[in-house]
Amino acid sequence: MKKESFSTNNRKYIGAHVSASGGVENAPVNAAAIGANAFALFTKNQRQWTAKPLEKESIRKFRNSCEKLGFTPAQILPHDSYLINLGHQEKSALEKSRTAFLEEMKRCEQLGLDRLNFHPGSHLNLASADSALKTVAESINRVLDKTNGVTAVLENTAGQGTNLGYTLEQLAAIISLVEDKVRVGVCIDTCHAYSAGYDLKSVNGYQQTWKHFHSVIGFSYLKGMHLNDTKKELGSRVDRHELLGKGSLGADVFERIMKDHRFDGIPLILETPDEKAWAEEIRWLRSVAE
Ligand SMILES: [Zn+2]
Ligand SMILES: [Zn+2]
Repeated sequence: MKKESFSTNNRKYIGAHVSASGGVENAPVNAAAIGANAFALFTKNQRQWTAKPLEKESIRKFRNSCEKLGFTPAQILPHDSYLINLGHQEKSALEKSRTAFLEEMKRCEQLGLDRLNFHPGSHLNLASADSALKTVAESINRVLDKTNGVTAVLENTAGQGTNLGYTLEQLAAIISLVEDKVRVGVCIDTCHAYSAGYDLKSVNGYQQTWKHFHSVIGFSYLKGMHLNDTKKELGSRVDRHELLGKGSLGADVFERIMKDHRFDGIPLILETPDEKAWAEEIRWLRSVAE
């Protein structure tokens, strides 16, 4: 209902990965303050393995604030800890990651959120990419068995080091092995895609990439996007975000995405390097949407 206060296109949910420091309940407030109608957050410290459980009061305030400010679950894309590797080939390290991921899914459940964004994992040269992808899928199956209502959202990566998930085929391979297809999805990061060799910059490359996405994965699996420009060149396999229009991708691709209805109704999240620029980036994105 509050969404009516946004004068232009309300089909596009545009926001940023905002701070939840001081408590998750601060995230929706921080998002509203920059004119966002979507946001991402960490529900715990992303650089630590454990966290104390969410307090009842914090959960209540988070839910109230989201309702008051007009954020529905489809506008919120929580991100898991960077430490988790669901494709780890060592038993104890894998168990640790699976336990931590399960806890993160449970935190999303408690907050009334319906998706959790994560990087597939790394094979660390301990196995082939193919067998590590199977491990990732098995990790997802186990966690989905123990949770309800939260979709596991795989993010495409730039393909640095031994990171998995830099090709659409790798993401599709994981999805094909997940039993509950309703609770698995993907988030496409524009910086990562470009660094991995998907030419979103040219009009033709943009059309080809999404045509390929449609045939290999399918838009029904798309549960969010990360809108980042990149400091690196096409196919560099290096993950360095840049402000929109200031990197090698350039502004046009983001304008194209804003005018493209295949990206309606999902969180479109900035992870650009200067948080002071977010309000302006959101205003610009909204101004070029149709
Ligand atoms: Zn991202
Ligand atoms: Zn990145």
